[in-house]
Formats: sequence, C-alpha cells, structure tokens
Amino acid sequence: ATPTAIMVGTGLGASHGVLIRNAEALEKAYQVDTVLLDKTGTITKGEPAVTEFITATGTEPAALLPLLAAVERRSEHPLAAAVVRYAEEQQQSAPGETAEATDFVAHEGRGAGATVAGQAVLIGNRRLLEENNIILSPKLEQSAAGLLAQARTVLYAAVAGRAVALAGVADTVRDTSVAAIRQLQSQGLTVVMMTGDNHQTAEKVARQVGITRFYAEVLPADKAGKVQELQAEGRVVAMVGDGINDAPALARADLGLAMGGGTDVAMEAAGITLMRSDLQGVVTAMALSRQTVRTIC
Ligand code: ADP
Ligand code: MG
Repeated sequence: ATPTAIMVGTGLGASHGVLIRNAEALEKAYQVDTVLLDKTGTITKGEPAVTEFITATGTEPAALLPLLAAVERRSEHPLAAAVVRYAEEQQQSAPGETAEATDFVAHEGRGAGATVAGQAVLIGNRRLLEENNIILSPKLEQSAAGLLAQARTVLYAAVAGRAVALAGVADTVRDTSVAAIRQLQSQGLTVVMMTGDNHQTAEKVARQVGITRFYAEVLPADKAGKVQELQAEGRVVAMVGDGINDAPALARADLGLAMGGGTDVAMEAAGITLMRSDLQGVVTAMALSRQTVRTIC
C-alpha cells in the first residue's frame, strides 16, 4: 500500500465519520469476509425502556421500585438506566422515599446487586437468579414466559433471597441497521450477530434485520472466544461493538470497529472508530478499503 493511497483513504474515511487508525486497519478491512455485530447498542439503539413491570403477590411496585433504582443507579449498564428511568417516572405519580445502596456489586453479563435498607437486592437475568438459588413463583414463571414470547429482555428482581418482580425491557433496532446489513451481505460478507441477551430476543432481532447466524446468552468473557470460533472456520473477522464488554473481542478480531457513541475502552481496542452511531459506517469502511487497496494493487 502506498502512503499516498492510504492518506487518501484515511482522509475520505474521516470526511464520512470513519476514523481509521492506520494502514494496517485499512488493509485488514480489505481481507475481511465475516462481520460480527454486537446487538445492544450496535444493531439496536441501546436505549432500552421498561415496558412491563410485574410483581409477586404481596409486593407493592411503589415499595419495590425505589430499592431497584437504588441498585441500578450505581450500574453503568444501559438496562440499569432503563430501570432507573422507569422507577422515576412511576415515582412522579406517587412520590416516596429514595433509597441508598451500599456494597454494590456488578455481576458481569448477569446483573447487579447491593444492600438497600438493610436488605440484599438483586436485579438481572435468569442466570443471576439461578446462581443465587432463587426460585420463581408459578405466577412470575408464567409472566416471564409471556414476556419472552414477545421478545422482551426480562429482568428478574429479588429481595432477601426471594424473587419479587419481573421487568420486560424493549430496545428498538436503529433505522439504518437493516439497510446497512443488507449492503454488507450484498458485498459478499457474512454477517453474524452476538449478544448477552436471551435466545428468544436475539432470534427476533436477528430475523428483523436479516441475519441468520447468531450467538445468544454470551457472557462478556466469552465474546472474544466467539471471534476465535469464527476465525477457526478460516474466516477473517471484523467485530463491531460499543461496550467495555466488547473490548476483548474487538482486540481479538482481525479488525475491530467501535461505535463512537460507546465507551472509550472500546475505541482504544479498535482499528476503526465510527463517529456516527450507526452501521452505515461499517459499509463505508469496507467500501473504502476496497477502493484504496485496489488503487494500489
Ligand atoms: P449485551 O451483549 O446485550 O450488551 P451484556 O453482557 O452487557 O449484554 O448483558 C447481558 C445480560 O445481563 C443483559 O441482557 C441483562 O439481562 C443482564 N444485565 C447485565 N447488567 C445488568 C444490570 N445492571 N441490570 C440488569 N440486568 C443486567
Ligand atoms: Mg453491548
């Protein structure tokens, strides 16, 4: 690759909001045949909202929500922000006490926990409940199945070792995702999705955007392993992500692309940063690498 061509390519990229770190990143982009996309915050907006809140018999939402909000205020997860927003909206109609959380613990890829008002409060996915040997009542079990059938992300809440509520959370696909994924596929690239979210929600989103191969319920620590799995099939993999969780996978991939709206850690691990938070930047990066490398050869 001639320095001039690289400079032209890099400059063109920048004018389209695609920041290319170096010549190597541009050359890697040219070799890529598989694009692995994170779901939350990459394909979807990453601005999830609580759409349903169901409590166990004998539990008042107004008493429980401040406890959950106290835990989630301490978390940096987008789902935590959704819980906090919901609790605040509900409290506006029925003002009450706000609680403080101590001993906060982030359970990576599962949820969060803390002590609030002297009680152990947990909120997160099914795995978090199971790991704490917490059993769902038949009522909550049935409600969870109903929410999952609607492709909601389901959050489970427990207080003092007892399951007390469920929250259904919905995130919307970005307007530009479907077209961008179709363009990548028409360039001959295989597009794969990966998420920590449950299988049913993952499947629904994948279908919505025209992706047939996906990995669901992937723990943050296993994301890089999925990149390796694809590489072991002989693929040259570009990974697109936004979160701290995605950084090892971005680094492991042949080419990492970080969404600019995401975390600094993701951007540091990536060869390309997309200034606009949408997948159109991936299409631009791939097209640009082809143009640049072809000019040279
Ligand atoms: P993603 O690939 O969707 O970004 P993450 O690894 O960040 O996945 O999270 C996986 C799952 O862990 C989430 O879908 C959620 O169920 C649960 N989770 C993680 N952090 C929290 C939190 N602070 N509150 C509630 N649930 C959480
Ligand atoms: Mg994410």
